[in-house]
Amino acid sequence: MEPTTTIRDIESLIVDIPSRRAHQHARALMNGQSYVLIRISTDDGLQGIGEVATAGGPWWSGDSVESVKVTLDTYISPLLLGADPSRIASLMTMLDNRLSNNWFVKAGVEMALFDLAGKRAGLPVHDLLGGRVRDALPIVWPLAVNDEKAEIAEAEAKLEQNFARHFKVKVGFKEPARDIARLHNLARHLPADATLRVDINEAWDEVTAQRWLPALEQAGVSLVEQPLSRYNLKGMARLQNSVRIPLMADESLCTLADAMNLSEMAAARVFSLKLMKSGGIRPSLKIASIAEAAGIAVFGGCFLESSIGTCAHLHLGASLPALSHGCEWVGPAWLADDLCTQPVRYEDFQIHIPTGVGLGFELDEDKLKHYRRDK
Ligand code: MG
Repeated sequence: MEPTTTIRDIESLIVDIPSRRAHQHARALMNGQSYVLIRISTDDGLQGIGEVATAGGPWWSGDSVESVKVTLDTYISPLLLGADPSRIASLMTMLDNRLSNNWFVKAGVEMALFDLAGKRAGLPVHDLLGGRVRDALPIVWPLAVNDEKAEIAEAEAKLEQNFARHFKVKVGFKEPARDIARLHNLARHLPADATLRVDINEAWDEVTAQRWLPALEQAGVSLVEQPLSRYNLKGMARLQNSVRIPLMADESLCTLADAMNLSEMAAARVFSLKLMKSGGIRPSLKIASIAEAAGIAVFGGCFLESSIGTCAHLHLGASLPALSHGCEWVGPAWLADDLCTQPVRYEDFQIHIPTGVGLGFELDEDKLKHYRRDK
């Protein structure tokens, strides 16, 4: 059967957007965020838009926006030009066969294809994924400030604004004892219905984690994200077996095989899903299915996407009944500006699912002109 339309053009642009404040990871500091905006145009005049974000450079997965753009322009776009954009599963399988790994760029391409499919059908993307099971999701705000006073002030402001009552603190760039003291102090400033979790971003070794995880629990921490190296699954399993506090896999969970290994080894009780690290919506849904079968809880993680990538995450979250640990889809609230005419909506400690067609945002062409790197 002849396709009803074909891919005519694929445009890629790097954009740099400033943030409201710096964001401290154990191994990197972000003062803004860069994206690869992907625009896929078809013969019938429609456009699908996707976005690739990294963790502010190649430290997380090896991907950077610069490497993503080169891979897209050189190796992916020639394979997609002239193809039927509605065959998302077939196109993504073809890309998996032609490009090993490269999950971040694949996630951006798949995002643009889903946006196109929704626009062609006149439906929001979540309706293509089985319809939505919720209208909003609870927000977890990352307190990645690296200043104790500023951290407390930010938590109090987020509570005051009805923005978030669940907080994730980045630790691992200080001595563990100092981090624990800092968490005790922070917990004292939070109300009883607030929760505190930490992300160690692989910064501890197993001995350090064995020693300090009970103290984290005593400080009021309810969840520990990626304490050990992504490659030390046996260590994670030993750790999870010996402490009560649940561990969440992030860096160690990208592929379906990772999800199988982690669940078979009982190396984590929570999975952090992110579109970028797993290659898009379809692989993320498959990972969520593995988690469901293994009795592992699911959380919505992010790479501080703009409203574009955040909308894509929201369609995934809208269609996943098991997303029990909320989400940190807060890029638009952390950025000082956005690429969409109407940023995503945060209200009542929740982020709301977009209901417009496609991914449900409108690109702001003036902002794009202003923030594109090569003007
Ligand atoms: Mg993380």
